[in-house]
Amino acid sequence: MSFLERDDPEVAGIIEKERQRQVFGLELIASENVVSRAVMEATGSIMCNKYAEGYPGKRYYGGCEFHDDVENLARDRLCKLFSAEHANVQPHSGSQANQAVYYATIQPGDVIMSQSLTQGGHLSHGSPVNISGKLYEVHSYGVDYESEVLDYGAIADMARKTKPKMIVCGASAYPREIDFKAFGEIAEEVGAVCMADIAHIAGLVATGIHNSPIDVCTYTTTTTHKTLRGPRGGAILCRKEDGPAIDKSVFPGMQGGPLMHIIAAKAVCFKEALSPSYKEYAEQVVKNARVLADTLAGNNLRLCSGGTDNHLVLLDLSDHGITGLEAENALGEAGITVNKNTIPREKRSPFVTSGLRVGTPTVTSRGMKEDEMKQIGDWIGRVINNIQDKNTIMAVRKEVVDFAGRFPLYPDAV
Ligand SMILES: *Cc1c(COP(=O)(O)O)cnc(C)c1O
Repeated sequence: MSFLERDDPEVAGIIEKERQRQVFGLELIASENVVSRAVMEATGSIMCNKYAEGYPGKRYYGGCEFHDDVENLARDRLCKLFSAEHANVQPHSGSQANQAVYYATIQPGDVIMSQSLTQGGHLSHGSPVNISGKLYEVHSYGVDYESEVLDYGAIADMARKTKPKMIVCGASAYPREIDFKAFGEIAEEVGAVCMADIAHIAGLVATGIHNSPIDVCTYTTTTTHKTLRGPRGGAILCRKEDGPAIDKSVFPGMQGGPLMHIIAAKAVCFKEALSPSYKEYAEQVVKNARVLADTLAGNNLRLCSGGTDNHLVLLDLSDHGITGLEAENALGEAGITVNKNTIPREKRSPFVTSGLRVGTPTVTSRGMKEDEMKQIGDWIGRVINNIQDKNTIMAVRKEVVDFAGRFPLYPDAV
């Protein structure tokens, strides 16, 4: 019996139910993943017992020598992973990493240009309901209406007109490769700072599958828990000379004590991401997304932008007369977890939407390959194309449970 089962059966029971949901369902949420046992062990370690405000060698508390060691290891590994000069591994989340870059570089009231939330951007890039949208004057760029891909000429024109202090690039729901060099050049032309947020695609950038913003954008922010497959958290990368301002902005500017157990787990994640087997994993994530996209298209579903270059597919359901919300619910009943998502030509509210975002990082971590993607794509097609038919949905559910059970989250778990 575990300590948790003995001391708090209520929480233990809830976690066990969640474990079963993860094991017997198919997780296709593009921002999620399955961490290794080693990452989980570090996350649940005694490193959580310590206050370590400050940075290695300059802490506000005694007894931090081993915390210095682990944070230095995390920083060095992250710099190596992305060929960057300076890393800050303390942001508690991707949103806080972004906030820290804004706080270090621009003033309230300054103009930010970023990709609109409804066309793939992120809340922390200046949405009116987020602090970033309240502090700064935000101008959003979107994708081209016809092609549904970013139009760098139009973005450059907008930058010349709005004269931003900061251009943010990077997205949460954009299936195509982003040209970071183009963004860096636009920012340079108008005298703006450029921040590339690679939260979703960090694992693809780290392995060279996606082009890197490191030498072409001023700041790079990321999460560590999406394709990178580490603990939940954020990080910032920049040049050496910009490091002190970023560090000051994270602590004491934005945060208090760092989550040292998470930083230990980040170090483990970065070591894993430097390994050849991780590169194979990242390549498989992209191959799987392509096969999944083709299979969905073969099931008469429209892909926004016509396909994918990365780990995710954006489906437009508007020609089927069903909403993203209805599709998310029906697929959920079938044991397939996805999220509704606004699409470039959106006509509905973000609570309803006309689209679905489908990603391959988690299923790839479970060992699924091209054949399994064809199977999953066909199930998604069957559910969406028979959305009123409860019998079909229940039949798919049964198949999904049997299938998922053959791909354990932790095959070597004891
Ligand atoms: C997920 C995401 C974030 C923020 O992540 P949190 O850790 O949830 O705050 C930031 N930017 C982009 C583009 C993301 O997709």
